[in-house]
This record gives sequence, structure tokens and C-alpha cells, in this order.
Amino acid sequence: MFPKEKMQHLLEEYDPKDIVIATVCSHSSLQIFHGARMEGFKTLGIALKEQPRHYDAFPLAKPDDFLIVDSYQDIPGLADELVARNAVIVPHGSFVEYLGATQFQELKVPTFGNRAVLEWESDREKEREWLEGAGISMPQKVTDPKDIDKPVLVKYHGAKGGRGFFIAKDYSDFKLGIDWNERYSIQEYVMGTRYYLHYFYSPIREEGYKLSKGTLEMLSLDRRDETNIDEMYKLGAQEELKRLGIFPSFVVTGNVPLVIRESLLPKVFQMGAAVVEKSLELFGGMLGPFCLESIVTDKLEFKVFEVSSRIVAGTNLYPSGSPYSDYVEPGMSTGRRIGREIKEAAERGLLTEIFT
Ligand code: AMP
Repeated sequence: MFPKEKMQHLLEEYDPKDIVIATVCSHSSLQIFHGARMEGFKTLGIALKEQPRHYDAFPLAKPDDFLIVDSYQDIPGLADELVARNAVIVPHGSFVEYLGATQFQELKVPTFGNRAVLEWESDREKEREWLEGAGISMPQKVTDPKDIDKPVLVKYHGAKGGRGFFIAKDYSDFKLGIDWNERYSIQEYVMGTRYYLHYFYSPIREEGYKLSKGTLEMLSLDRRDETNIDEMYKLGAQEELKRLGIFPSFVVTGNVPLVIRESLLPKVFQMGAAVVEKSLELFGGMLGPFCLESIVTDKLEFKVFEVSSRIVAGTNLYPSGSPYSDYVEPGMSTGRRIGREIKEAAERGLLTEIFT
């Protein structure tokens, strides 16, 4: 991890009135650039091999400038250039994935959010320690595969975007699907409806839904379209499908907008607040946008199966605001909210609070 003192030193060199917001051209970059532009920032798109053409089709979300790299692994070597350009990084899931966790944590460029969260987020045991420690209810864990006596989901460590999961209902099912060379964890398959809750935690705002430090917002929510599990019912029962060699997968292909029963909102806020408070205690806080990936059962209970501690692609549904952010400030996307946070921190001399 790039030392905090060095980052603070680096930030002192920045001109707070001329910050450039940079990210990799993928995932939620259109929204990040669009939002940054609305807040008056210049933007820089980091792209592979050549300038991606589709940005020409979206002029309001096209970065002012591009930085072309041969490989994402070249980005750490360009740190000095990024700093010289007064650029800060706004990371998204693909940014972290393309660069790799270690390179991302070592990157010598101010990065929005707390990079220390990665250790807690990417290890399923530590993630559980964090979330359950915050009082969050998670899908029950099965330690010994021989104990499987109801549908479970087997998740490989480091599996991304739902690829590499499988459902088993007993030990023989498990043996059929398991790759013994991989680290895995097993958890109860929760029956219910999925809600991906998009929050924003500001350590520097004082008005709103107050936490021990700063405030919490809920900007939007979505549900992911996942293939092929979402469409499987059309072909009949799972057992029959297995005989045909068709196995469920959860690969995300898109997102659907949603609102949640209003009576569940107090719980939504209580969960978000508890996860932030615990993060402050464990590793200095998860800053900026984050998402709790949850399933609501027919008892109206939330089970959280994952936390994403940066902007999630589901927020791309709401570039001009959502049914929730409309009650905070019309036209406020998550990308724009990031820009606003950087602007407020720059104006108040608080950049070291939001960058690591
Ligand atoms: P993840 O990679 O943890 O985000 O999970 C990928 C997808 O698997 C989710 O979007 C859900 O559709 C599904 N999923 C994950 N965990 C569970 C669970 N415990 N019960 C039911 N479905 C789950």
C-alpha cells in the first residue's frame, strides 16, 4: 500500500483548482466523466491501444483527453505523468481488476477512496468478519461439503461477475461440480429477490443522515441481469437441464432499474450505516460510493452476500438522477456525486480525507 504520509505529501503539490479526473475507459467511465464535467472538472480517459471510437457518440461523457497505453500494466509507470497533469484516479471495478490488487494499492497517484478496503473486500473470510461484525445478516456458511442438505452456492475465491459459481443441493452434486484445485466457500442459496443498494459515504459532509463521522446517502438501486440463470425457468426444471448439460451461470450482462418497498428504507440505511461504522473501526473507513448486494426474503429480511466498495456499474442506469437521488439533489448521479465530493474537499482543503 502506498504510504499515507507520502500520499499527503504528493497531494500538497496538487493545484486544488485544476484537478483532472482520470479513469480507465470502461465499466462506469461514461458516468464518471459526465458527472465530473458537470462539476466543472477536466477529464482524462486511460485507454488500451487506441482511442475508443464509441466515446465520439457520447459527447457529454467523452473525456477531454486520452492517455493511450499498450497494456494496463503500464499505468504504474505513468504515475509521474499523471501527477504532473494534476490528475487523480477515480477507480471502478474494472480499473482494479485490470491493474491487479497489488499494483492498484501501490499506485503512486492520489486515488479516490480508501485503498485499504481491498484486503477486506477481496477475501471472503475477512469480508464476512467485517459484515457480520457490523451485525449484517449474511447467507449461512457451510464449512463441510458433506453437510450440504439444502441448495447452496459454491463460490470460488476471486470469482468475478458470477462466473465460476455453481449450485449444489447435496454432497454428490458438490463432488460433480467442484474443482479441487481452487479455493472455494459454500453458502446457503437464499431464495428471494435481489437488490443492489447503491450508497455514498462522505466523511466530510456534516448535514444529512449523520454517522459518527460524516454522512450517508442512498443514491439508487438496481438488479443485475444474469445469464443464464435468469432465463433458465423457461426451459424447465434444473434436474432436466443438467441431463441436457446446461448448468446455471450468473454472468452479468446488464442492469435493471428498481425501487424498493418504502417500508424497507429504514433497514437499508441502518445496514449501510453499520457497514461504514465497522469499516471506520477496522481500516479507517470505506469512502465514497459502495454497494451492498442483497437478497430480500419473503419474511422481508435482508441477506447481504457481497459488498463492493467503489462505484458499481448498476449506477449507470441513472446519469441524470434516480428516484432516490432526486430527493437529495435533482440530476445527481453517483459519478457526479464523486465529482462533487472532490470539489467540496478541494474547496475546504480536505483532499487528504478522501484520497489515499
Ligand atoms: P457475486 O459474485 O457474489 O456478486 O454473486 C453473483 C450472483 O450470484 C449474484 O448476483 C446473485 O445472483 C447470485 N448469488 C450470490 N450469492 C447468493 C446466495 N447466497 N444465494 C442466492 N444467490 C446468490
